[in-house]
Amino acid sequence: MDIVFKNGALQKVDGTEKTWKADLVFLSMGFLGPEHYLSESLGLELDEKTNYRADKGSYRSSASHVFVAGDCRSGQSLVVRAINEGREAAREIDLFLMGSTDLP
Ligand SMILES: Cc1cc2nc3c(=O)[nH]c(=O)nc-3n(C[C@H](O)[C@H](O)[C@H](O)COP(=O)(O)OP(=O)(O)OC[C@H]3O[C@@H](n4cnc5c(N)ncnc54)[C@H](O)[C@@H]3O)c2cc1C
Repeated sequence: MDIVFKNGALQKVDGTEKTWKADLVFLSMGFLGPEHYLSESLGLELDEKTNYRADKGSYRSSASHVFVAGDCRSGQSLVVRAINEGREAAREIDLFLMGSTDLP
């Protein structure tokens, strides 16, 4: 079955199913968003790409006391972006916990 990315989500293309005989099927999948056992147990809201919803800058999820940053927030990206978000989120968390922060 063919899958296309449309309207912000993966969608099946009807009529493209095929059947192959196989001894082993190995699935290597990426770009599918974060696991949802965490969002379900913590009550995190998801965005339209099924990432954990949080604004860049505050990094606060829809659940109080839960901050999210990096690929799980923005989707698959670059490691330098994840590092930058991690640093910014650490600052926001410090501010939240301590009321002030010296972090850059
Ligand atoms: C194959 C591949 C190639 C890539 N190549 C490049 C590249 O060349 N250049 C580039 O800039 N970027 C590349 N990227 C993207 C880059 O790796 C990511 O953008 C970056 O690693 C995201 O960092 P992160 O900290 O947000 O997430 P991650 O690096 O995915 O870290 C998340 C961590 O959370 C842990 N975790 C998950 N669930 C739990 C839990 N319940 N409890 C505790 N820990 C948990 C995971 O084990 C993991 O260690 C590549 C990605 C992939 C998959």
